[in-house]
Amino acid sequence: MMETITSVEEMKVWSRRICGDDKVIGFVPTMGCLHEGHLSLVNASLSECDSTVVSIFVNPAQFGPDEDLESYPRTLEADKEILRSTGVDVLFLPAKEDLYPDGFQSFVEIEGKTNYLCGKSRPGFFRGVATIVLKLFNIVNPHTAFFGEKDWQQLEVIRTLVRDLNLDIKIAGQPIVRENDGLAMSSRNRYLSEEGRLSALSLSQALKTAQSRIEQGERSTEIIRNEIRQMIEQKNGTEVDYISVCDPEDFSESEEIRSRTLIALAVRIGKARLIDNRIIERA
Ligand code: AMP
Repeated sequence: MMETITSVEEMKVWSRRICGDDKVIGFVPTMGCLHEGHLSLVNASLSECDSTVVSIFVNPAQFGPDEDLESYPRTLEADKEILRSTGVDVLFLPAKEDLYPDGFQSFVEIEGKTNYLCGKSRPGFFRGVATIVLKLFNIVNPHTAFFGEKDWQQLEVIRTLVRDLNLDIKIAGQPIVRENDGLAMSSRNRYLSEEGRLSALSLSQALKTAQSRIEQGERSTEIIRNEIRQMIEQKNGTEVDYISVCDPEDFSESEEIRSRTLIALAVRIGKARLIDNRIIERA
């Protein structure tokens, strides 16, 4: 039976009890509007850990003033239904007031790698992410936490947080789950119109084409970047936020494609800002 816990204190008590029994807690933090991408993390936790906690919390601290905090899709009843059938032990649904009470004034800053990609186009985003993730880690006290490679930079930022602040938590990255036609699953795909949905296909298609071009011998990051941009801008209603061909860990760019390269991009289509990425290993 899945238990729903809304109080921070109760969540801590539950975790202390489970840890006292020497059980391994797996943790999947989410913002809800659950899809197969989230479920792949849940299933990984269920198979690796004794108990699984999933949190749903739309974290205000990671949204900018002009972003979609108010309209972010909230589908709590459907999410509960989905989770009930999985075997998750606890759904943690903290209240905003409990996590950010009056007088809250402590934030976590990760330097360096947050100056690139999403960190550059969403100032304050990773500060909000790192803060909520550290808070949730302290409350849930997991042995392993599961994150998706869809948010590649976020995964790297969290690995850095865990390393730098000496947290005893294993971070498990999970592959991107896609729709049959290649679109990376995302709660924000709901914002897409029918035409936008078609245009959105160009993200994964352009990444795939770039991979073939590199495998065939193209070595210029600039040429690859330009080709991706062209493929995406050909489609109706797309506005490229960034396209980066870079190091998968520190996100620095070089003129020549390295042996292991991350191609990451963010594109606005109507109200949706979509991200996708691909790791390319050069032969
Ligand atoms: P979100 O609810 O969007 O904050 O995502 C919660 C977790 O699910 C994060 O670790 C994401 O990286 C992960 N996630 C979201 N979409 C996908 C996807 N399509 N494939 C794999 N993981 C995903």
